[in-house]
Parts: sequence; C-alpha cells; structure tokens
Amino acid sequence: MKRLTREEKFMRQAIKAAKRGLQEGEVPIGAVVVYQDKVVARGYNRRAKLQLASAHAEMMAIDKACKKYASWRLPEGCELYVTLEPCPMCMGASLNARVDKIYFGAYEQKGRSLTAALAEANLLNHKTEVVGGVLEEECSALLSSFFIGMRQKQKEEKERKKAEAEKEQSQNKNTGE
Ligand SMILES: [Zn+2]
Repeated sequence: MKRLTREEKFMRQAIKAAKRGLQEGEVPIGAVVVYQDKVVARGYNRRAKLQLASAHAEMMAIDKACKKYASWRLPEGCELYVTLEPCPMCMGASLNARVDKIYFGAYEQKGRSLTAALAEANLLNHKTEVVGGVLEEECSALLSSFFIGMRQKQKEEKERKKAEAEKEQSQNKNTGE
C-alpha cells in the first residue's frame, strides 16, 4: 500500500469524522484541527440533527478546539483539515480563530465558493493558506455516494406512494365509491 503523506494522514481522520456523520444520516463532511502534529479536535456536519445552519463540520471542530484552549484565538500553527472546500462562514470562522493553514479534500462546484478570495483578503489582518485536493477522490466519492443513495431513497419513496395511491383508487372502484 502507498504510504500516506502527512496531509493525507490527517485528511483520513477528517474522513473518519465524516463517516460518523453519515451513520447519523448527515451529509458526510468531516473536519479536524491539528496542532503540533496531533489532532486536537474533531467535528462533523450535524446540521440535520441540531437543525442549526451553523453546525458545519469546520465550526464544530473549531469550537471544540477553542474550548480546549479556552481561547477564541487558536495557538499559532493550528491547521484545519476538512473533506469539502469550506463555505464562506467556515472560512470566516477559521480566520477569526486564526487558523494558519487549511487543507480540504473535494472541491466545491466552480464559482460556488469564495475560498481563495477570503483566504487572500487579509480580513482581520490574518491570512490563511489554503491547499485543496488532499485525498480528493476519496472525499468526493463519500459525498457523491451519499447523494446517489439519497436520490435512490427519494425515488423509492415516490414509487411507494404512487403504488399506494393506485391501490387505494382501485379499492374505491371495487366498493363503488
Ligand atoms: Zn461551512
């Protein structure tokens, strides 16, 4: 087996977190905060469970790391690994927490993310380096298989309802209603 690079090793941890979300029926996105070559916080998307628009994997991981260090400013050198390119909210949170480097796996669809612009904007007098495409295939396969499964379930549900309605209709016909 091919040896994993340092980045891939930590991305694997983010993927592991994403899979936990998957088990709970969430869109599988996972994140970890790394400091001094150790995972110090993990998070996964919990939007459905918590019904919170802010419950993204990155937010969960950053919040946990801040709590751990009892500081909104994370120690210098903290890195964030996330399976999907961060949205503007999570880029904002990373800048606010002074994350120094972000590694993400799958790319968000073109034009739907402002990652590079936000990383370069020097908001809050802090720049975050961003590296995309770490274990990209694995990260995007996880997401696409989730969405394929979801569409399949929706299709089955639709067919089930249709069959039920047809059954009801024919029963009504039989009873002369
Ligand atoms: Zn986000």
